[in-house]
Formats: sequence, structure tokens, C-alpha cells
Amino acid sequence: MRLHIVTIFPEMFPAPLGAGIVGRAQEAGLAAVHVHDLRDFAHDRRRTTDDSPFGGGPGMVMRPEPLYEAVESLQLPEGSPVVALTPQGAPFRQADAERLAAEPVVTLLCGRYDGVDERVVAGLATERLSIGDYVLTGGELAAMVVVDAVVRLLPGALGHAEEAIADDSFTSGLLQYPQYTRPADYRGMSVPEVLLSGDHAAIDRWRRNQALRRTLELRPDLLAQATLSDEDRKELRRLGWSEN
Ligand code: SAM
Repeated sequence: MRLHIVTIFPEMFPAPLGAGIVGRAQEAGLAAVHVHDLRDFAHDRRRTTDDSPFGGGPGMVMRPEPLYEAVESLQLPEGSPVVALTPQGAPFRQADAERLAAEPVVTLLCGRYDGVDERVVAGLATERLSIGDYVLTGGELAAMVVVDAVVRLLPGALGHAEEAIADDSFTSGLLQYPQYTRPADYRGMSVPEVLLSGDHAAIDRWRRNQALRRTLELRPDLLAQATLSDEDRKELRRLGWSEN
């Protein structure tokens, strides 16, 4: 998979995208992340990419020409996603990460200043995504979040841990069950007995029930969309859930 990032701060990317699973996925050739300096597409000698807003007001707005020309230079395949990162976008969810991970090429546009000329969204971007209801100084951190969430889903990226994706929070439709490792007792807190039992059916049921309990407690909104068995519903009702 190829990921293009268009930014005025390309120097922000090497460290976070060079480490860990995302770094290894690139070394293994599973993902190629190309960071493009938007200033290379500026029209003046000072490499300016922003200007004052029509209608007045404080702050600067990113001009459309460098962004259009940067994306055009990539010669993207027809229909390839071009994502404008913006707090005004749809919330970026695991389902978006799964959808984008299935694409051969994804392009991410990082805004700065007071945002981007509206014609970029109207004629260049295919969608808008937000990483949360808060305003960052730029789209670079948001692009890193998207790349990280997408690349770990690429086949082979997680190596042996790949099966774990199915149980991940959100992928399963629920939050993940609690996890424990050695030591079995730590400062008076012991690992639930069932996890030491070797009884895999009992462990699976315990984990499922814990995922249900945790989701009900922390993110009950997820239950409306989750795929629930009759047994799950019974457990949730036992925990005090009322379906409507
Ligand atoms: N004035 C804009 C508004 O109120 O919608 C916010 C501009 S913000 C200071 C500058 C840039 O940061 C945006 O163009 C966008 O690329 C990025 N950004 C800020 N918050 C973001 C978020 N929650 N998700 C994704 N990108 C974000």
C-alpha cells in the first residue's frame, strides 16, 4: 500500500512513522509512506502556501493552488481516496481504518493556520476526516494517527499477533476484555483464576463477558451497533442493560 502525505512540515514524520510496527511494515515493503513538502508547489520564491482570508478576519488560510498541484503531481489512480484532515470531518473510526487499508493508494492532506480554502474540499478531497472533537495546530498529527491505524491492519504488519486484531476494541464491536501477564500476583492483585485454568472454552466465555461488561460500563453507545448473540444479550441484561 502507498500512503501520500502532503504537508508544510515534512520533518515531523520520520520519527513517529519510522518506529515500531509502522517502521517495520515499511522496511518489509508492506507500506510505502511518501511525505511531500507542500512548499515545493508554492508559486513564489518565498514558497508561500497561505494567504489572508477573503472577507477579512484574523488568521491565514491555505491557498488552493499548491494543494491541487501537489495532488495532481502524484498521478493517483481513478477514485483513490484523498482525505482532508479537518476537525470538521467525520470522526475517524476503526471502520475507516479498515476501509482505507483495503485501498492501494491513500492521500492525506494536512492543513495548518486557520484551515484550508474551501475549494480544496469541494474539488480535490474525496472525504473529510477528524481525529476528535478538538482543534490541533495542524493536520500532521492527525495524518500520523490515520497512517498508524491503517498500516497495522495490513496483512503481515503485526506478524504473529495478527489474530489479535479480531479481539481489538472496536474491531469486535466491543471494547476489549482485560488482559494480564506475569506475575500472577502483584501487590495483592491476582490474575483471575479462569485465565490460569487452561480451559479455553471457559476463558473465551469469560473474555466475552468481560468485553460486554466493560463496553456497557465505559462505552454503552457501542452496544447498539455490536453483533450480539442471545447469550450476550442475556449477560448484558444480567448486568443491568436495557436494550432501548
Ligand atoms: N479553523 C479551523 C476550524 O475551526 O475548523 C481549524 C483549523 S486548525 C487550527 C488547522 C488544521 O489542523 C486543519 O486545517 C486541519 O488540517 C488540522 N486539524 C485540526 N484539528 C484537527 C482534528 N481534530 N482532526 C483532523 N485534523 C485537524
